[in-house]
Amino acid sequence: MKIVVLKFGGTSVGTTDKIKNVANIVHDYIKKKYKAIVVSSAMSGVTNKLINKSKEISNNFSNSEYDVLVSSGEQVACSLIAGRLIHKGLKSRSWLAWQIPILTNGPFKYSRINKINKKKILNYLKGGGIPIITGFQGLNEDLRITTLGRGGSDASAIMLAKFFNAEKCVIYTDVQGVYTTDPNKLIKAKKIKTISYEEMLEMASLGAKVMQPISIQDARLNRVDIEVKSSFLKKKGTLITKRSNITSNKIITGITSTQNDAKVTLVGVKDKPGVAASIFKPLSKNLINVDMVVQNISANGNETDLTFTVKSEDLNRTKKIILENKKIKFRNLLFDKNVSKISIIGVGMVTTPGVTFRMFQSLANKKINIQVISTSEIKISVLIDKKNVNKALKILHKEFTLDK
Ligand code: ADP
Ligand code: ASP
Ligand code: MG
Repeated sequence: MKIVVLKFGGTSVGTTDKIKNVANIVHDYIKKKYKAIVVSSAMSGVTNKLINKSKEISNNFSNSEYDVLVSSGEQVACSLIAGRLIHKGLKSRSWLAWQIPILTNGPFKYSRINKINKKKILNYLKGGGIPIITGFQGLNEDLRITTLGRGGSDASAIMLAKFFNAEKCVIYTDVQGVYTTDPNKLIKAKKIKTISYEEMLEMASLGAKVMQPISIQDARLNRVDIEVKSSFLKKKGTLITKRSNITSNKIITGITSTQNDAKVTLVGVKDKPGVAASIFKPLSKNLINVDMVVQNISANGNETDLTFTVKSEDLNRTKKIILENKKIKFRNLLFDKNVSKISIIGVGMVTTPGVTFRMFQSLANKKINIQVISTSEIKISVLIDKKNVNKALKILHKEFTLDK
């Protein structure tokens, strides 16, 4: 069987007209003798509305009920796609994750797929059916509905491609592929032909919303090649694949920026061993992810200022935990939400000296101040004032010749 997994994001199923278009895309694969497994997200905006409703009910809404609630948008989209295929004379039906089932482990809200029962879907495919499967949803061992984190239908598609040994896994979205930077933020952004899992993982984790970061980990571990393309235009997309399949001589592959980071500074902390650990331990215990960190020794050598970033949504909890922490003393506590993390990503930087200098110099030339820095083998991130984001994206895109 020539199986293809086709995933449609919220933007691709945002209206009934768009759903009719999706049915046409699926039909094209059927005409080419493919067996199509279709995965859909909820119509765009629906998941956000459901999350807001949960917040109106309680500021501490139950996690298990959250998953039942927010995964319901996928059911609507899937039945509409199946309905349209049936209307076109094709055999199709919706499959909710529990009906297959798609089994997950891990906590509610952030579960991971560990097994997919293939039998029913295989039989259905053999009988000429087109299954339309709810993305984002799973079932845990207590038979409770789970979800896979925001953007999680990407992970559903990749794991279906793995379990069904699909020839292709195509992620249909509202842009033509993965770009050098968000094409909705920088007009000069260019479509990338092929990108490695490692670079895509960094880009996705650092703000490129086009793919869910965890889904890229799943793809890398299971060697699933992914094509990202537009559901509106018939154009070649981007291939996400292993590094050895790529021949690019670019030093930097992409640039990302974030909107949801917040900076925390503890001014005048006693500079002695164990202080940083005392600050970060309760944060990690409460599952607050500390990202960038910088520590300055003060002039008198007895005190230090410690700055770090957390996600904006964790800022209030961070504040509370620090203020309640009896083990640390400091003179002042400062918060700043007007920051953004700009990152340059590329496997080429491993073998090219001077990339850091070029990044810092180009920002300096535009008088953009760097507040915090963090690096890994294939990325450099800097924290800057939010108001300078567009300027920074533009200048770095040019500096690393991504405009060409
Ligand atoms: P879907 O509804 O298909 O899941 P998403 O909204 O999750 O779509 O992702 C698509 C969006 O990702 C695009 O509209 C684009 O604005 C954004 N995006 C951010 N960074 C990039 C990038 N580097 N390349 C392409 N798109 C990006
Ligand atoms: N509908 C879910 C969300 O908005 C899953 C997805 O879009 O992939 O996060
Ligand atoms: Mg998405």
